[in-house]
Amino acid sequence: MADEFDLIVIGGGPGGYVAAIRAAQLGSRVAVVEKRSTLGGTCLIEGCIPSKALLDSSEYFALAHHEFAKHGILMDSPKLDLAKMMKRKDDLIMRLTRGVASLFKKHQIELFRGTGRLAAHAKTSTTVIVEGDTGEQRLQGEKILLATGSVPVEIPGISFDTTGIGHARHALEYQQVPDHLLVIGGGYIGLELGSVWKRLGAKVTVVEMLDDLLPNTDREVATTLLKSLEKQGLDIHSGTKVTAVEESSDGLRVRLEGKSDLAVDCDQILVAAGRKPCTEGLGLEQLGIALDDSGRIVVDENYATSRSGVYAIGDLIHGPMLAHKAMDEAVVCVERLAGTSPEVNYNLIPGIVYTMPEVAAVGATEEQLKQQGTAYQSGKFPFMASGRAKALGETEGFVKVLAAAKSGRLLGVHILGPRASELIAEAVSLMACEASVEDVALIMHPHPTLSEAFKEASLACIGSAIHA
Ligand code: FAD
Repeated sequence: MADEFDLIVIGGGPGGYVAAIRAAQLGSRVAVVEKRSTLGGTCLIEGCIPSKALLDSSEYFALAHHEFAKHGILMDSPKLDLAKMMKRKDDLIMRLTRGVASLFKKHQIELFRGTGRLAAHAKTSTTVIVEGDTGEQRLQGEKILLATGSVPVEIPGISFDTTGIGHARHALEYQQVPDHLLVIGGGYIGLELGSVWKRLGAKVTVVEMLDDLLPNTDREVATTLLKSLEKQGLDIHSGTKVTAVEESSDGLRVRLEGKSDLAVDCDQILVAAGRKPCTEGLGLEQLGIALDDSGRIVVDENYATSRSGVYAIGDLIHGPMLAHKAMDEAVVCVERLAGTSPEVNYNLIPGIVYTMPEVAAVGATEEQLKQQGTAYQSGKFPFMASGRAKALGETEGFVKVLAAAKSGRLLGVHILGPRASELIAEAVSLMACEASVEDVALIMHPHPTLSEAFKEASLACIGSAIHA
């Protein structure tokens, strides 16, 4: 006889664990199946959190090297204790994953360790089979939520089994600073991890097949960021393809073709060429669960798949692969199952690149507005003119506001600069309330703060900027 639950979630990442907690809060008996030994998924274990921990640590290291003296702080050249930096990151992951486990306990969510797959039981009910260390277990769920996330894409001929070739998880765990790290892929993961190892002393080369790095980012922001990263010493080759990787006694030789035709010798390769939904072995075919052309699970507005009673969220379905998207979908999916009808606003998913300076954006880019033929006004404010940015010593970048020509309604906000990742939340909130640039201009912003740059850029949109 199988254990019976109202909801069985497969995958304990930000999508899965948030869905489980919310469903338990709403009174459901919930089980989560997770194949890793800890909860938190890609985000906590090999994504958002460890990458930000190393970005922060390496930023302090770079500041100590290059910026402290400007503040009158004199010290001998700082030295790197990489093992300690990695331990700090690992401790942080451990504390956060334990935090999720304790939330499970508090909400009486049953955790099954093992690999889950679907098995048709009857037309209307679905069984989950959990393959664990001690054998197979069968769980019966009235509803099943798939939240198995995504895995890195492997490039043919560049195998993760080769010494020195790996994906993000490997680059978050290097035991020594590479002499020369070659990053394949100029998306946010490649640029963030490339920045970490550059700051810690590696030579870093980034190769991107497309002509534009960060293709979905406002072009003015992306090109300004790239110039800044090149100034920091990253060697960036866009419009260039890796055609072969050969092992040699000294490491790896990478052949590049395209705008840059050359051979590069390196000791580590980070493949950051995208991620694909983790659907293998889930038993989707047997249950007739439809996938789209990119292998994502097709869902309707309730996150229901083509099999009755089976739902999917997060990296498995359409949209950007981001933790905050997965978490919001989790709550909306579970609340809809409980009979209410909240919605995820897919037009307002903020996107962030945690480089130095940071990029943060929400809404339409200038290129998208032009393509759509939308009449718009734009206003910009440089951090160079911000008192707080000057005090911080971080004056690179700007805030760019795009608003509807007639109504002034905010259509897009793009920030390149210090703490952009925090500043963007104000823009997301105001855009969710359908605010206009005039509204922003009337809201008092504390002085001196970086947030004033958003107000000034909004004022610039209506020709009333005070400080620029
Ligand atoms: P996941 O987090 O991938 O969780 C899926 C879980 O399912 C995993 O724990 C997996 O072990 C488990 N699983 C898979 N198959 C099975 C099975 N058959 N049975 C049982 N368990 C299974 N996003 C951001 O928003 N901000 C960031 O700063 C950010 N940085 C990132 C940095 C890196 C280096 C990477 C790789 C990703 C980053 N992301 C970031 C993306 C983010 O991690 C994902 O979008 C997010 O984790 C997706 O959540 P999810 O719940 O859909 O899937």
